[in-house]
Amino acid sequence: MRQSLVVANWKMNGSLSENQSLLNNVKQGFSTVQHAEVAVCVPFVYIQQVSDLLKGSVIAWGGQNMSQQTSGAFTGETSANMLVDFGCKYVIVGHSERRNLYAESDLLVAEKFAQAQSAGLIPILCVGESLIQREAGETENVVQRQLSAVINLQGVASLAQSVIAYEPVWAIGTGKSATSQQAQDVHAFIRGQVSDARVAEHLQILYGGSVKGSNAAELFAMPDIDGGLIGGASLKVNEFLSICQAAR
Ligand code: PEP
Repeated sequence: MRQSLVVANWKMNGSLSENQSLLNNVKQGFSTVQHAEVAVCVPFVYIQQVSDLLKGSVIAWGGQNMSQQTSGAFTGETSANMLVDFGCKYVIVGHSERRNLYAESDLLVAEKFAQAQSAGLIPILCVGESLIQREAGETENVVQRQLSAVINLQGVASLAQSVIAYEPVWAIGTGKSATSQQAQDVHAFIRGQVSDARVAEHLQILYGGSVKGSNAAELFAMPDIDGGLIGGASLKVNEFLSICQAAR
């Protein structure tokens, strides 16, 4: 039985006062969350604040990106060890916004995945196809290519200390979620690509893309969907709590 996981991706949102009110309210309502492990991935500058607010709670925190480099002359970058210094457990790598807006390649994402693991972070590897790719019947090829880049660099066993997030690009921030069956089909495909049966069985595969309180239960009921990566709805206390409550 895999542990359900719900991860908030705040993206470039928040302020000191908004974060404080959001997390205090989430903590207050958290006794209603029974089954999910929960984490929030926040902008770098707020990690200290979020760690102060969440220390002693069961909610973990993490970054939304990091450098593939260890340290040195890389102006503007943030290393995996820096995230560890601030108590991060997770880091998102390969979000489609990074792949598309900042031209992050499959290899670069795989290097970030490797660097995260060597610092002791759990990378949340995002994979997913665009609408054009889906309509061209390319979904499985795209997801396989994104996953293979990591397996080729790090080996299949490395997936045991990671989380995969399937996020169809056409469903992110659009209000148009994949159907539970569409998501399940790709999740089952991803699990099937993991050649080590034990790793495959334990691998948490999250769905991301317009998850809300109203569709979370149906998505999370699917056998290969182990929770969600939540963008917009993670900024609304009641929506986020009801998504967390929907986890199996
Ligand atoms: C995301 O950014 O990872 C995401 C899933 O966003 P949203 O929930 O807003 O579609």
